[in-house]
Amino acid sequence: MVVVTNPGGPKYRNMSEIIVDLKLPGITVRPLYNMIGVHCFNEVFFEDVKVHKKHLVGEKNKGFHQVLSQVDYERGGFERLMQNYPLYEGAKDIIRKNVSLKSDPVVRDKMAALDIELELGRLLVYHVAWVTDQGRIPNREAAISKHFCTRFEQKLGDFVTELLGQFGQVMPGYPETPLNGDVADSYLWSPSYTIQGGTSEILKTVIATRGLDLIFTKRKA
Ligand SMILES: Cc1cc2nc3c(=O)[nH]c(=O)nc-3n(C[C@H](O)[C@H](O)[C@H](O)COP(=O)(O)OP(=O)(O)OC[C@H]3O[C@@H](n4cnc5c(N)ncnc54)[C@H](O)[C@@H]3O)c2cc1C
Repeated sequence: MVVVTNPGGPKYRNMSEIIVDLKLPGITVRPLYNMIGVHCFNEVFFEDVKVHKKHLVGEKNKGFHQVLSQVDYERGGFERLMQNYPLYEGAKDIIRKNVSLKSDPVVRDKMAALDIELELGRLLVYHVAWVTDQGRIPNREAAISKHFCTRFEQKLGDFVTELLGQFGQVMPGYPETPLNGDVADSYLWSPSYTIQGGTSEILKTVIATRGLDLIFTKRKA
């Protein structure tokens, strides 16, 4: 958890990271289900919960800056690009086997565009790995990579859904479901790609301020 440990202290220097055992008294966990019916979130209530200071992670009151570095590592991974890779292969396969799709200029154009973006995404992820390998925290690089790769994944889901028409909406678990139901599954998950791990708006702010040095200062009234 990130918790306030210095109430009233300076902004960004008043919180800490701490590991909390969910079995402690005073904690109530209520499940939340997403639009696919999957339980991966909870509402968690804390009432007078006491945690020993030995469970502090890193330094006291440095939690905000610790989290910022941690998300830099979280953002730049291959999974931001590849988690729906079977859809990409599946779409290519469907198009190749279908004469009318194969000769449709719109389909060809969209599939080729995805192919270009997959290659670009791969290079961006490698760049993040290279920066990490140099011993630097991949800040701007991870923001660029995540922003680009998650948009690619959304476009992939949109394209395959469009390609399969109503069949694309059949959920996993039915024998006639194309591509194991990955199409409907990924379409419904895809809005979260540009939110989780930092929204695209925040990533662009990271790129603008730390990459391009476009520091925003509020005008005095
Ligand atoms: C599937 C999924 C999994 C997740 N997993 C985790 C997890 O494992 N651990 C974890 O801690 N969190 C997790 N999250 C939470 C996620 O990190 C947050 O939802 C995300 O960072 C956005 O924060 P928020 O929901 O508070 O939105 P807000 O910060 O309230 O933002 C709401 C909207 O306003 C925009 N906005 C906010 N501030 C600005 C600004 N300064 N400039 C421009 N636009 C702005 C945002 O882009 C967004 O569109 C997950 C979320 C999802 C959807």
